[in-house]
Formats: sequence, structure tokens, C-alpha cells
Amino acid sequence: MRPIEQSCFWLATRPRCVAPVPLAGNCRADVAVVGGGFTGLWTAFFLKQLDPACEVVVLEKGVTGYGGSGRNAGIVSNCIDHSHAAAVSHFGREEAARLARLGIENIDELAAFAVDCDFERTGQLHVALTARQMDDLSRGAEVASRLGIDGYRTLSAAQARAEIDSPLYQGAVFVPGGGIINPVKLVDKLARQIRELGVKLFERTAVSAVERQAVRTPGGTVSAQKVILATDAYSHHLFPQLLARFIPLYDYILVSEPLTEAQLRCVGWRNRQGVLDGRTFFNYYRLTADNRILWGTSEAVYYPPNRVDEGCDHSQAHYDALLASFRRHFPPLAELAFPYAWGGPIASTTRLTPFFGTLSGGSIIYALGYTGHGIGSTRLAGKILAHLALARPSELTGLRLVKEKPFPYPPEPLRWLAVQAVTRSLRRLDRGEKPGLLLAALDALKIGFSS
Ligand SMILES: Cc1cc2nc3c(=O)[nH]c(=O)nc-3n(C[C@H](O)[C@H](O)[C@H](O)COP(=O)(O)OP(=O)(O)OC[C@H]3O[C@@H](n4cnc5c(N)ncnc54)[C@H](O)[C@@H]3O)c2cc1C
Repeated sequence: MRPIEQSCFWLATRPRCVAPVPLAGNCRADVAVVGGGFTGLWTAFFLKQLDPACEVVVLEKGVTGYGGSGRNAGIVSNCIDHSHAAAVSHFGREEAARLARLGIENIDELAAFAVDCDFERTGQLHVALTARQMDDLSRGAEVASRLGIDGYRTLSAAQARAEIDSPLYQGAVFVPGGGIINPVKLVDKLARQIRELGVKLFERTAVSAVERQAVRTPGGTVSAQKVILATDAYSHHLFPQLLARFIPLYDYILVSEPLTEAQLRCVGWRNRQGVLDGRTFFNYYRLTADNRILWGTSEAVYYPPNRVDEGCDHSQAHYDALLASFRRHFPPLAELAFPYAWGGPIASTTRLTPFFGTLSGGSIIYALGYTGHGIGSTRLAGKILAHLALARPSELTGLRLVKEKPFPYPPEPLRWLAVQAVTRSLRRLDRGEKPGLLLAALDALKIGFSS
């Protein structure tokens, strides 16, 4: 299997201009950021916005975007939770309305920043493959409209197929506000901007230990008043105790050859929306700027015990299943070749949203656990982390999302058994069976599962 830099479409087609510079020697900073994904880069960006004199160092073990930020599907949502209905269930109506407003502002600002990152504000199409999924999607649209969000549109099967022509569609809901982006272009733009603002960015620099006000790497130590941990699914490698609140999972994706004009005419997709279907283990898909189809699955894998390493970057079983599901959706494109295939780690929480906290008496601050849904929320998290690091007041730091932790996961070996049991139940649910006792109990505890 090819290394991730060649198998991931975004990373493989990345034009790189700045050669990675590792840390060599000791230095000091006001804030040291560990992790060069969206969370770390946005945090550095907002630190400089809030205090241009703040000395910031970012340390990344691979190259920027090596983690989920460079490997994702690039489907952008303006909803901070997985849906507005989920936000109401997790945080109550008032906070859900606040999150909805913040999510919309956040994506508007992201769009202004990402003008040259192939960001297309297409919105999303949430498609139903069964009548029950259509009922669920319609209920979700009603919740959004009760929170005052305009623009959701319910589509019949014929209207959905007029947008994208799959024989499997039973209907759809158009979800406004989000879009599709080239995530690596966003990473690169952020890296360029923070360098221009004076941030020192060291790549190929693996942090081996974070201590009170000192970050150790093989090439030297950074002394800093505050350390931001922006390592998402990798966080337990430095702080195993964080595993109590998240589980690392792997999502897998295929990207096709560019479609010809005739192939595009077959599927329609003139409005180029990012698409998700209504199952628990759903497919997500989109067109790239050069009209390839990116085809992913949220049927994420847990590799016990909490593995996140290169050995998980590929799964032939997932690639075969992805290809089969693509062909079921678009039979006329059955011959389409998919030269790119890869996986990436996400940090999943039981409430499907990130959590925040501090370690080492407050000198280390972290945010992680975006649950496969982080392009928008990492920007908000970066803003929150910057305010926390500089002790600046903000309505953001008072959010329940920031102050409260998600329900914990069990440790091994129970964790593996629980994942197996829940996966089996969710597969039954997606086949149209009743939820069963386990899912009903978890639902009562407001525990969600998705990637
Ligand atoms: C396959 C896949 C598809 C996805 N699709 C979508 C999508 O369509 N829409 C969406 O909104 N979200 C999606 N996501 C989720 C989204 O990509 C993540 O939520 C987001 O990128 C998390 O950003 P981050 O910066 O917190 O973490 P990461 O991008 O994972 O960054 C963490 C960084 O820390 C570095 N690091 C780790 N340990 C160390 C160390 N010891 N020293 C130095 N550096 C270290 C890593 O190399 C990595 O670069 C997807 C994720 C995956 C994997």
C-alpha cells in the first residue's frame, strides 16, 4: 500500500513551496502549540489576532495536514454538532440556538478566509434511502427551522434525483450554508498566514513529552508559559488519560478519475452539493474541483487497543465495500476507476462534539474529539483555545460545549466489546430493524455514535 502522502488525493496533489524545517536547538515562546492540523493552525492564527506580540511556536510531527486535516472529505457544515437536533438533545434548546448562530458566523468567516481554497458554498444534500430515513431528515429540518435557521428544503424522490441521479434516493433535504473545500489548500493557506504573522512553524518535529511549561522534542526543547495540545486522535500518545473521553477510529475514502462530460451528464450534480445519506453508517460524497468523485464511509473502524499509526492507513475490506456501495448508487458509472484510496484517524466522543480541558495545573490546554466533523468546529475551537491561553474574556469560553465533558468511554477490554456490540446494533438499525434495548438505553443517556 502506498504511503499516505501518495494515496491521499489532497496530499498527493499538493503543490509544496516551503521545505519542512525541524526544530534544532532550544527556544522559548509565550505559547507552544503541539499539532499542525486545523486546530493548531487556527489557534496560532487567533493568538496572533488577539495579541500580535505573542510569541507562538507550532510543532508538527509530520508535515502540516498530516492528520485528519489533510485527509478528510472536505465537506463543510455550519452546524457545530452533527445536527441541530443532536445539539438540542446534547445541550438544550437555548444553547443549540446559540451554537447554530455561532456556526453560521463561523462558516461565513471561514469562507471569507478560504477564497482561494476551492471553497464552493454549495450547501449539502442529505439523501434518504428509505422512507424512515426521510421521516428522520424531515424532522431534523423542522428542528432547524424552529431554531430560526432558514433555507432547509425537503425534496421528493423525483426532485432529489433531478439534483443527483441515483436510483436509490427516496427523497432528500437540502441543508444550506455549508459547502465543499480542498482541505489541504486551507491548511497551506493557514500555514502561510501564520508564518507571515511571525509564528515559528517546525515540521518533522515529534513532541516526545509535554511538561509544565516545557515541550520536549528530539531536536530541542521549547519553553513556554502555555502549551496548546492540538493533536486530536493522536492525543493519547502524549496523555493516555484523555482516552477516557474519546475513542480513535479510522474513516476510509476513495477518489476517482475525473469524470468525462458524458459521465457527469449521467449523474447531473450541477449544483455540486456535498452529500450524506440518512443511515447511521452513512456514505458521504462530493465532486472535487476537477470533477472526480470522492466517496467515503462513516463506518469507521476501531483498532484495539486505541491504535493510531501508519498500519491503519489502509483497509482493503473498506475499499472493496466502498466500491460496491458506489456501484449500487450509480450503476452507469460502474466502470469508473478510483486511483486514490486512504484512511485517516478521527477522535470520536459520545456526544459527537469536541471537548476542552486543561492539564498540569492549567498550563496545558486542549481541544479534541470533533468526531469526523471538524472542518468548521476546529476554527471555533482554535478561537476558544486562543482566548483561554491569553485569558481573554469571550462568550465562547462560557459555552456548555467548552465547560462540560462528554460521557466517558469504558477502558479496554470493555471498550472493544462495547464497540462490537454497538456496531452490530447500528448495522441492524441501518437494515431497517428496530433499535433494540442497547441503543434505546444509550439514547436515553444521550450517547451518540457516528464518525
Ligand atoms: C477520512 C476522514 C474524513 C473526514 N471528513 C470530514 C469532512 O468531510 N468534514 C469535516 O468537517 N470533517 C471531516 N473529518 C474530520 C476532520 O478532518 C477533523 O475533525 C479535523 O481535521 C481535526 O483537526 P485537528 O487539527 O484537531 O487534528 P489533526 O488534523 O489530526 O491534527 C493533529 C496533528 O497533530 C500531529 N501530532 C500528533 N502527535 C504529535 C506529536 N507528538 N508531536 C507533534 N505533532 C503531533 C499530527 O501529525 C497531526 O498533524 C474527516 C476526518 C477523516 C480522517
